[in-house]
Amino acid sequence: RMASPALLMRVVASAYTVAEKAATIVRNVMAAGDLGIVDKTGDNDLQTKADRLVQMSICASLAQKFPKVTIIGEEELSTDEVTEELIEDGQCEEILKKTCPAQYAGIKEEELVIWVDPLDGTKEYTEGLLDHVTVLIGIAYEGKAIAGVINQPYYNYEAGADAVLGRTIWGVLGIGAFGFQLTEAPAGKHIVVTTRSHSSTLVNDCISALNPDSVIRVGGAGNKIIQLIEGKASAYVFASPGCKKWDTCAPEAILHAVGGKITDIHGNSFQYNKEVKHMNSAGVLATLRNYDYYASRIPNTVKQSLVP
Ligand code: AMP
Ligand code: MG
Ligand code: MG
Repeated sequence: RMASPALLMRVVASAYTVAEKAATIVRNVMAAGDLGIVDKTGDNDLQTKADRLVQMSICASLAQKFPKVTIIGEEELSTDEVTEELIEDGQCEEILKKTCPAQYAGIKEEELVIWVDPLDGTKEYTEGLLDHVTVLIGIAYEGKAIAGVINQPYYNYEAGADAVLGRTIWGVLGIGAFGFQLTEAPAGKHIVVTTRSHSSTLVNDCISALNPDSVIRVGGAGNKIIQLIEGKASAYVFASPGCKKWDTCAPEAILHAVGGKITDIHGNSFQYNKEVKHMNSAGVLATLRNYDYYASRIPNTVKQSLVP
C-alpha cells in the first residue's frame, strides 16, 4: 500500500476542489442578480454577497479538514451562519498522485499559512467584466509562497456556448504549474499590465517611465499574473499601495513555479508569515522573464514615494 500523500499535497488537492466550489458560488450569485454590494473603504474597495459566501465556504472547508493551519481571508465576517451547503470536502486526485518535493514532505499543519482572496477583481465583477475575476488560495511555509490555486470562474465566457466555462490553475514550487498553456510574451516588445480601477498619478508616471509598447489595464492581481504566464503581457507594474498579501500569495507561488519573479517596486520579496502586515505598501513588479530590465527602469522618484 502506498504511503498517504504529504500534507502539502493534500492541502493543495483540497484547495483545488474548494476553489471549484467557490467558482460555482461566484457564478450563482451573479446569475441570481442580487450582488449585495458594500463599499468597505470608499476607495473602489467593494464587497459583494459572492465575496462573503465564498470566503465562508473556503475558510470553513479548509479549517474543517486542516484545523491547525492558519487561514487568513480578505473579508472580515462574523463566524456564524456557515451553512452545511457551503462546505466542500472533495480533493483533486491528480494532485494527490504527484510527488511532494522533498523539502516540503515533512511540513506540519501548524507550519502552514493559507491566504484567501475569495473574489479578486470585485469592482470588475460588479461591472460585468467577468473574466477579470479570480478566486485565490495561496499557501505559505516559512514566510514563502510555496503553492497556490487560481480559479477563473468565467474563463471562456465570451467564447461561445460550447466552450467550457471556468478553469483552475494550480502550482507548487519544485513541481510546476498546471491548468494553462505557458506562453512567452512577444520577444522584444514591452507590454505592461496594470490596474484599471485603482490608478493614480504615481501608477501612471511609473508606467510612462518604462516607455512600453503598450499598456493593458485589467482588474485583479490573479488576472494580471495570468496575463504574464499566458504571454499577453511582459510585466505587471503597480506603483501604489492597495494590493494585499491575499492578492499576491497564490499568484506568486504559480509565477515562481514556472520561473517568473514578483517583488515590490524596490525589488524586495514578499513575506507571508501569519504576523506580516497585510498591505503590500510598496507596490508590485512581476514578470515571467526579463525581470531585471523592468526593475532597473523604475524611477528613483517612484521608489521614494513608496515606503515598504
Ligand atoms: P487591481 O489591479 O486594481 O484590480 O488591484 C489588485 C488587487 O489589489 C485587488 O484585490 C484590489 O482590490 C486591490 N487594490 C489595489 N489598489 C487598491 C486600493 N487603492 N484600495 C483597495 N484595494 C486595492
Ligand atoms: Mg483582491
Ligand atoms: Mg477580494
